[in-house]
Amino acid sequence: MQSTIQTKYQCTICLSLRIYYLESSSHHKNLERSVNGLFWYSDIHRCKDGMLGINNLHIDKNYAIRSFESLVLPSQKNDKPTLRGLPLPNMKRDRSIESYNITNMMPDKGFRMIIYDHSLNVELNIGRIQYDLEKPEKIIESTNKKVVMAYYPSQIILSSNLIDWFELLVNLLEELPPTSIGLFVETLRYIFRLQLINPTPFHKEIITTIIKSHQIYFKGTDTINKFQDVETRLIDEYDKPSVEIMKELVENLHNRSNYTLKMYTKTHHSDIVYIIYILLILRDEGFVEFVDNS
Ligand SMILES: [Zn+2]
Repeated sequence: MQSTIQTKYQCTICLSLRIYYLESSSHHKNLERSVNGLFWYSDIHRCKDGMLGINNLHIDKNYAIRSFESLVLPSQKNDKPTLRGLPLPNMKRDRSIESYNITNMMPDKGFRMIIYDHSLNVELNIGRIQYDLEKPEKIIESTNKKVVMAYYPSQIILSSNLIDWFELLVNLLEELPPTSIGLFVETLRYIFRLQLINPTPFHKEIITTIIKSHQIYFKGTDTINKFQDVETRLIDEYDKPSVEIMKELVENLHNRSNYTLKMYTKTHHSDIVYIIYILLILRDEGFVEFVDNS
């Protein structure tokens, strides 16, 4: 009989007590495939500083978490030219590449893909893809072929809009400094939300800022008095709660020179993408400057 089991552990990074839910019968079925009596699951949660963190939990037949590892991407890129481009099925896998496995990027349905980043020498396998048995639906490469995405059959059908988003993503991953794995998942979730529309330059700015947000600082440029001049117009263009947050951020930045996005997710709004959206509007209105610390 299927029943939901709760199992607990403490995240060593944010120190919160985490409860992980799993279905008993599918867990036992999974264990039949396991050689060491453990099966792994990704616990994605708001971790330290409001950033998404991913812990891969190894769970035994009694639903006890026997060990877990927190996924952390390398912070340095290497500039070695890449010798190999397309990750074709049945191709001999490069053993030197470090594998990062994530069961799913959303609680229920989502994308299934492998992303190869040759300049980080990592591959991200999202959705338990079995290299030897499955065939990608589509391969999407960045301009210099340093980042390659293989999209596998998923609940989300690949559309031309989604391909445009993924092309944007692989090229940003190639161009920009290394991101953190939590911000990477955050970017995928953002794309997931907007998959039905075609990305605009504003969307590109949003995902660029998400990927880089661990190293961007914000600086106030103007006084609160000026904000009052445009407040009514902003309420017409956006909505009142958003303008309230804009006002708070402008006030907050008035006396500070370098505030980070992490700080805002702690103090103002836990949705990092929403805060980025608000800050981009404030930047376009001339109230905020983005300082890139890379
Ligand atoms: Zn945590």
